[in-house]
Amino acid sequence: MNYHILTLFPQMVIEGLNTSIIGRAADRGLISIHAVDIRDYSKDKHRHVDDAPYGGGAGMVMQPGPVCDCYEDLCGKLGKRPRVLYMTPQGRVFNQSIAMELAKEEDLVFLCGHYEGIDERALSLIVTDHLSIGDYVLTGGELPAMVMIDCISRLVPGVLNNDESAQIESFHDNLLEYPQYTRPEIYEGMQVPSVLLSGHHKNIETWRRQESIRRTLERRPDLLKKADLSGKEREFLAALQGGCQGEEGGS
Ligand code: SAM
Repeated sequence: MNYHILTLFPQMVIEGLNTSIIGRAADRGLISIHAVDIRDYSKDKHRHVDDAPYGGGAGMVMQPGPVCDCYEDLCGKLGKRPRVLYMTPQGRVFNQSIAMELAKEEDLVFLCGHYEGIDERALSLIVTDHLSIGDYVLTGGELPAMVMIDCISRLVPGVLNNDESAQIESFHDNLLEYPQYTRPEIYEGMQVPSVLLSGHHKNIETWRRQESIRRTLERRPDLLKKADLSGKEREFLAALQGGCQGEEGGS
């Protein structure tokens, strides 16, 4: 997977992605992270890339020329026109299934806006996907790009030590992950659930699935509509929901 980040702050993304699992994946050549400074494509002697909005209003808008020239130069070097993801609070909210779809690409371009955003004509010429990380406004697209790159990279084969760990986590199967425990066995008087110490793999698997269902019902019931549950698991869920309704009714 090759990431190309078009930004006014290349140092921010390179330094932010240079550590831990993602940094090691880059060192091992499993992913490559290439930040391109949009300012290098300014034709202005002061390297300006933004100007006041037509029609008035607060802030500055990134001009279309440097953004498009930056992308076209990249396409020329790559010999192809990769998908361009514009980081914007106006986009589709990024999630695990979008990450899984994007992880299939060989090259991805992340376009980071700043100030009031980017001139609409540049967006209409080069952007293929408008993506947000949530319904709030940040100062720039660099943090959203880093969030998405971190998430997508975990799905690239070999990036995690154990590829299974990306397959049984939260949002896989539209369930949240079960609770996790490690040593010590008793902490502040709280005991690790005995089934996890039993060595009985089938019982552990059943307990984990049930705890996933319980946790999803408590924290993200919206996900359960799409969850892939067996007949027995549906019965377990119905019993939990019956219990919830009973509790609500009793209070
Ligand atoms: N004026 C724009 C609007 O109201 O939609 C917001 C511009 S924001 C201050 C500057 C840049 O930050 C955007 O161009 C975008 O690249 C990035 N950004 C801000 N919030 C974001 C979010 N929630 N998700 C993705 N990108 C975001």
